[in-house]
Amino acid sequence: MRLLLLAPPGAGKGTQGERLAAWSGATHIAAGDLLRAEAQAGRGLGHEIAAYQARGDLVPDQIVLDVLTPVVVEAAATEGPGKSGTARGGYILDGFPRTLPQAVAAADLAARLGVTLDAAVYLYAADKVLTRRLLDRASQSGRSDDKADVIRHRLRVYTETTGPLVPYYAERGILVAVDADQPPDSVTADILARLSALPLTRLPAPGIE
Ligand code: ADP
Repeated sequence: MRLLLLAPPGAGKGTQGERLAAWSGATHIAAGDLLRAEAQAGRGLGHEIAAYQARGDLVPDQIVLDVLTPVVVEAAATEGPGKSGTARGGYILDGFPRTLPQAVAAADLAARLGVTLDAAVYLYAADKVLTRRLLDRASQSGRSDDKADVIRHRLRVYTETTGPLVPYYAERGILVAVDADQPPDSVTADILARLSALPLTRLPAPGIE
């Protein structure tokens, strides 16, 4: 299965991404985590990446593509039959693509790899809900960008730059919109119900894996 999660900061895409990966056997590819790991490794463009993240700005597309492309290529290559004859492998893209040029690059990459995206799962919630969640988790997250002013900026960047991906995937007929202002289990249940209703051939039956 190949999915992407499109969601503003605080909507829970990390949590849902992990669950969808565990359920489907696909690789969870979290762009923010991979970029934070690059930043912490302190080599190459690490310092630059850390500065963009701390400000709540998007990391430039070319850097993101350099970090993400090999990971996506590897996940696409590990597809194969899983337990009970269900399909395993594929990927859950969490936080990538996040700009229109990234979406175009991701589509080009998929075409080169001979694969297609099954769905773009869009998790939505009101800004005040997202802000409250991010501030609530700030003390445990240890993230440089979980501060009130940076959170405001991240939400604005999301609306301006990532928001246009919602109509982009809707026009391609693969958008699945789910209300993220619910307990995590209800969000997961809604996503799985919506995915099960899609004409997909690759989905495992819930509970098998
Ligand atoms: P959140 O969605 O809560 O902002 P993430 O961990 O997904 O958390 O992203 C944190 C930061 O990592 C972003 O503010 C941005 O700086 C960087 N980042 C993550 N994904 C991308 C991407 N696809 N393109 C550019 N920057 C990204």
